[in-house]
Amino acid sequence: MTSIHPPHQLLGILGHPLGHSLSPALHTWVAQQLKLERAYFAWDKSAEEIEAFLKAVRALPVHGLSVTIPYKRAVMDHVDEVSARAREIGAANTLFWRHGRLCAENTDVDGFMAGLEGLSPRSALVLGAGGAARAVAWVLRRLNIPRRGVANRNVEKAQALAEEFGLEIAPWDSRTSFEAELLVNTTPLGMLGERVHLTPWPAEAFLPGQVAYDLVYNPLQTRFLREAAEAGATTVDGLTMFLGQAMAQHALWTPDGPGMPMASAREFLIDALQ
Ligand code: NAP
Repeated sequence: MTSIHPPHQLLGILGHPLGHSLSPALHTWVAQQLKLERAYFAWDKSAEEIEAFLKAVRALPVHGLSVTIPYKRAVMDHVDEVSARAREIGAANTLFWRHGRLCAENTDVDGFMAGLEGLSPRSALVLGAGGAARAVAWVLRRLNIPRRGVANRNVEKAQALAEEFGLEIAPWDSRTSFEAELLVNTTPLGMLGERVHLTPWPAEAFLPGQVAYDLVYNPLQTRFLREAAEAGATTVDGLTMFLGQAMAQHALWTPDGPGMPMASAREFLIDALQ
């Protein structure tokens, strides 16, 4: 007779809408690989449901939560502790328990830093000024990159980000005049769908030796990265950041190990994207 083992730990992702999220597939796969008694769900909740949902997170309890748009800010009002960096960025993408307290952390920062390993740019330009750009700008400031800029279509949003994180403003229409060793695309330009043929940076404006870092990971090879590679630039794809943030989440939910198997997780996600 087959015995039935209900999982010991409930985890999941909270957001709305959740249709395209890779997190359930990845964290389920990781739990299977590491033989952890875990089930990871997709919780697509409306704004009105958030308060009751987070009460349920405490009551059950839910062992760990990934949080995505539009709730990265709201969840911080419902936890016992918010890390300093999540507070500074104004967004938390991970909830976890420590000593009986529900804590909020931002691991997008770890993810973005994972893609910068071995690089030490002296200048950087952030393309876009939305939610993801905040974690990027926080890291650039933390790394003390001497010259940092932001270019955004909506100049008020660029100004707000620039003031908060100490960036220069490069007007969107003349952004290519800002000579940066590191270019970071935080816009959705190049994403699968109607924007797949778009790019935030003209092909002829790449400079030799530049690093092009795309946060978009579907497709893995965006137009931005393809044209950067053709111009001789180094490229960093969005899956590197996605995996880095997921690995940091896994570590918070699994403080005594085992860690996420990174190389095979990347292969798994590349297959999942196809
Ligand atoms: P968001 O808050 O909506 O911000 C989007 C930004 O892109 C805004 O600054 C917006 O400019 C700009 N933008 C949108 N359409 C544009 C266009 N046609 N031309 C020029 N600029 C345009 O989005 P987000 O949450 O920051 O996410 C941005 C991207 O990062 C998404 O593709 C997301 O999937 C990706 N991401 C990846 C990871 C990862 O782990 N790899 C993590 C987080 C996010 P305006 O202000 O002018 O509207």
